Amino acid sequence: MLDYHLHLWPHDQAEVSLSLEQVADYCSAATAAGVREVALTEHLFRFVQSEPIVAGLFDEEDPALRASMARYWEHHARNDLDAYVELAAAAKASGLPVVIGLEVDYYRDRMDKVAELLAGYPFDVLLGSVHWLGAWRFDDLGDPEHMARWTAREVDGAWEAYVGAIEELAASGTCDVLAHLDLVKVAGHLPAHLEEHWDRLAEAAASSGMSAELSSAGWTKRCAEQYPARGLLERLVERGVGLTTASDAHGVSRVADRAGDLRDLLAGVGVEHLLAFEGRVAHRVPVGDPDRLGDRR
Ligand SMILES: [Zn+2]
Ligand SMILES: [Zn+2]
Repeated sequence: MLDYHLHLWPHDQAEVSLSLEQVADYCSAATAAGVREVALTEHLFRFVQSEPIVAGLFDEEDPALRASMARYWEHHARNDLDAYVELAAAAKASGLPVVIGLEVDYYRDRMDKVAELLAGYPFDVLLGSVHWLGAWRFDDLGDPEHMARWTAREVDGAWEAYVGAIEELAASGTCDVLAHLDLVKVAGHLPAHLEEHWDRLAEAAASSGMSAELSSAGWTKRCAEQYPARGLLERLVERGVGLTTASDAHGVSRVADRAGDLRDLLAGVGVEHLLAFEGRVAHRVPVGDPDRLGDRR
């Protein structure tokens, strides 16, 4: 097993610290749960280097959401990407089972700028995510203003926009792994023709050559299931899309969360190998010996 989606800082923490000890604690928790390697994948929007990329991106959007996005960046984008990458590289060099990653959010029409920025860093793996549609943070369950838009907006239209964004993100070739591929279900709203959306999402991954993650994070959300749903997972496997496993933890207590349940899902769809990454090149690793898994089901 892997845990290829980890954050060092919770979202409500604006001022952050960088500590090798914290990374070592994450690795200990992962190893105890039978995870062979972790990827640190902090959000790009936590770093000041994202500011030139996002500048003006939401100018045409709904004024209330645009203002909310401005506050979001003001809160989150306070840290130095160079220092974060240096910490991850130091952890890796010290022999910890860590690779250097980043969760790259989808910036419409600006992924070339993102790629240009990230090319200067020694990343092992880049996750591609869609967290907002226009300036609407459809997955921000803690923000009533954004959640209210789910009732005002047609669910099928939201899914259509989300799937379109994933298709564009995948086609941009900027990242290696599609994170929480059906995240748009997070608030519990499903479209009329769910399977057609699954087909398009699986096709976007397959045709781009990207991998996808199997994540336990959805179990704690309103959708109450892993990402991706079983039907989408089956479609990915049918098309030969490589997989990672992930917790999307934002603190040590959830590192490798429910790794055993993810392993059972993989067994159910006949997957025996995952993809790990080094220098953004994938290699196969076995899902692993179930006996080595700890108790974090
Ligand atoms: Zn994410
Ligand atoms: Zn994440």
